Amino acid sequence: MNRITTDKIVLASGNAGKVREINKLLSEHGIEVIPQTEFAIPEAVEDGLTFVENALKKARHAAKLTGLPAIADDSGIEVDALNKRPGIYSARYSGEGATDAKNNEKMLNELKDASEEKRTARYWCVMVYLENENDPTPIITQGTLEGKIMTAPRGEGGFGYDPVFWLPEQNCTAAELSLEEKNKISHRAIALNALAKKLTAN
Ligand code: IMP
Repeated sequence: MNRITTDKIVLASGNAGKVREINKLLSEHGIEVIPQTEFAIPEAVEDGLTFVENALKKARHAAKLTGLPAIADDSGIEVDALNKRPGIYSARYSGEGATDAKNNEKMLNELKDASEEKRTARYWCVMVYLENENDPTPIITQGTLEGKIMTAPRGEGGFGYDPVFWLPEQNCTAAELSLEEKNKISHRAIALNALAKKLTAN
C-alpha cells in the first residue's frame, strides 16, 4: 500500500545539517519535503526516553501544526566508554547553550584517558512517518553507523560529532566525507531508505 497521499510532507527538523541530508536522500526516491522552519513552527519538546518516542513527538507536533503528513528523525551518538552516553541527549550533551564545538570538546575531554579499544561508538537514527497527528499506524525505521571517537577533531564537512567520529572502513572522519559519500553509509540514510521503501511500496 502506497502511504503517500499528498505531494506535501513536512520535515519536522530545524537542524540545517539534517535537513540537507534528508532532502537529498528523499529526492532520490521522488519524495519532496518542506522543512518545518518554512512554517515557522517552534521546536517540539523532546522529553521522551527513547529515540522512537522523541521522533514520534516531533512528527506529531509538526503534523498537528501544519495539517500535513510529517517525517521526523531523532538521532544521537552512543559511546561505549561513556556507558552509551550521550544517546538521546546528544544535542544537549554540553548543557545549556550547547554547540557542536562545545559538545565535541566535552567528549574529547571525557575520553582523554580512554584507550583506543574503549573509544568505540555508534550513531543511531530513528525515522518516523505520520499521516496525520492521530495516525495510529506510524511507519518507524532505524539505522546505525559504527565508528570510533578521535583524540582531536578532523575535517570540515557534516555536522555535530562528525569531526570526532572516525570511520575505520573509510579511513577518515565523518566530517571528511562529502554529502554524497556520507549519504551512502550513514545511520540516517539507512533509516530513511527503509522508510522511503515502505512509503512507496505498492
Ligand atoms: P536531535 O536533533 O535531537 O535528533 O539531535 C541529534 C544530535 O545527535 C545532533 O545534534 C548531533 O549532535 C548528533 N548527531 C545525530 N546525527 C549525527 C550525524 O550524522 N553526525 C554528527 N552528529 C550527529
